[in-house]
Amino acid sequence: MALLITEKCINCDMCDPECPNEAITFGEEIYEIDPDKCTECVGHYDKPTCQSVCPITHCIIIDPDNVESEDLLLEKFVKLQGLA
Ligand code: SF4
Ligand code: SF4
Repeated sequence: MALLITEKCINCDMCDPECPNEAITFGEEIYEIDPDKCTECVGHYDKPTCQSVCPITHCIIIDPDNVESEDLLLEKFVKLQGLA
């Protein structure tokens, strides 16, 4: 599934440079994750790195509107890397 940045975000900019898929950008008021680019870090890391670096508890959550299986995330990773 893709992850979602909630309004708890304090715009600290810790997550943006750490995303391996360049899925995080600054939106209108807070940072946002592009669900088409977020693989939940599948293919890159064991855990979502944005969640690991975010200093705010439960700021970045699973996006309830973009729930995907591990297989779909891996497929997305392959496409994003230009491997398919
Ligand atoms: S989970 Fe990984 S791929 Fe998704 S936005 Fe966070 S750092 Fe980027
Ligand atoms: S690390 Fe967390 S608080 Fe900082 S910009 Fe990213 S989502 Fe917002």
